[in-house]
Amino acid sequence: MNEKSEFDSELHRTTVAQLDGVATRLGLDEDIHVRLRLPRRALVVSIPVRMDSGKTEVFTGYRVHHSTVLGPTKGGIRYAPDVDLGEVSALAMLMSWKCALMGLPYGGAKGGVRCNPRAMSLQEKENLTRRYTAEIILLIGPDLDIPAPDLGTDEQTMAWMMDTYSMTQGKSVPGVVTGKPLIVGGSAGRREATGRGIVYAIYQAARHLGYEIRGRKVVVQGFGNVGGVAARLLWREGCVIVGVSDVKGGIHNPAGLDIRQLEAHIAESGSVADFPGTQPVSNEDLLTLPCDIVVPAAVGGQIHERNADKIKASLIAEGANGPTTPEADVILRDRGVTVIPDILANAGGVVVSYFEWVQGLQYYFWRESEITARLQEVMTRAFNRVWALGTKEGTDLRTAALMEGIKRVAEGYKVRGLYP
Ligand code: NAD
Repeated sequence: MNEKSEFDSELHRTTVAQLDGVATRLGLDEDIHVRLRLPRRALVVSIPVRMDSGKTEVFTGYRVHHSTVLGPTKGGIRYAPDVDLGEVSALAMLMSWKCALMGLPYGGAKGGVRCNPRAMSLQEKENLTRRYTAEIILLIGPDLDIPAPDLGTDEQTMAWMMDTYSMTQGKSVPGVVTGKPLIVGGSAGRREATGRGIVYAIYQAARHLGYEIRGRKVVVQGFGNVGGVAARLLWREGCVIVGVSDVKGGIHNPAGLDIRQLEAHIAESGSVADFPGTQPVSNEDLLTLPCDIVVPAAVGGQIHERNADKIKASLIAEGANGPTTPEADVILRDRGVTVIPDILANAGGVVVSYFEWVQGLQYYFWRESEITARLQEVMTRAFNRVWALGTKEGTDLRTAALMEGIKRVAEGYKVRGLYP
């Protein structure tokens, strides 16, 4: 099954290899296995954008649906300079497993535009987003495919997407995207959801491993929507945050950082760098600082075969997608480091996106306390299922999480049957 594929990329090869390994373990029906290795459909679009200079630039965009067997598809939209079809296809596949693992009635999707959002003005980003939305409109809709923010996109991007889609329908359609601003149908607690979900996952892992999280030393890589919130909530739970970083570099204080003061520093300076009372540390060295828990919450591939044996933490909670390479995974497993895999640890975002979608379809909005209580329940249930399966099968948590997610998607295909 090593056929030439339009979807080829390093990440796609990794996700397909993970699927193949789990398929063997599960004794997956071969007909279903071959279907799962490829996306159901993929759209590649050219996006002409009038730039502030008056010139037109043409960008390439993608939207991929991996599986539609359990419901409409769900997945983020990424704006980044290295986005390609292979990466988006791999991330769509991971979304299928993640949604199924969390018990959500969704298939997996992902989208992206190859661009550098940091070099674009707000007007250029709006032009890009509206034309991209118009180009992929065939594939999106509240009961078809529901995009959400990812790297390089945010609430504002989702508001433009919702508005563009709504204009073609002659009415407001809040259910077409999630991660929207509150005023146009966003959900309370969505912004914090991924970071909060990580804390629930860490809490459960610590419970199973027999310790309390209070007093544990934590390092967080990436101080954005995911890492910043996880750091703040862990700090509030009594963890000692000894190091954090952003794209400009990291800071370290073995006695712990005051996260509230750090947030004030970031509001003023735009970075964690130069926070008084700390030592500078590179993003690479940050991960190997003495601590109990590491939360990689920036970009993929940060824990690799050259640093995995130097990591001192005994627990890693993956906030980013794919922060650990397969080679590093083997090293960490052999060293007895517990890794809460991305499809479980960072699933809080898609869970509250699901809540936002349900609220939007019903035009009935819940209180934040209801949302966090339901999020905790869903995260805890999924974590405990994965932990129990890992213990029963003698596997690490990544394999167990993939087994649980892939098994559910496969069951969907089994009962629906292959068409024709
Ligand atoms: P963000 O843009 O809000 O924050 C990213 C942070 O990482 C920033 O502090 C940035 O400075 C830092 N960063 C960027 N490149 C870096 C690098 N090379 N080295 C170190 N730091 C770097 O993004 P986010 O929403 O927090 O997402 C972070 C990760 O979590 C991504 O991998 C994303 O796919 C994943 N994720 C996000 C969500 C969500 O709900 N936002 C859900 C699931 C997974």
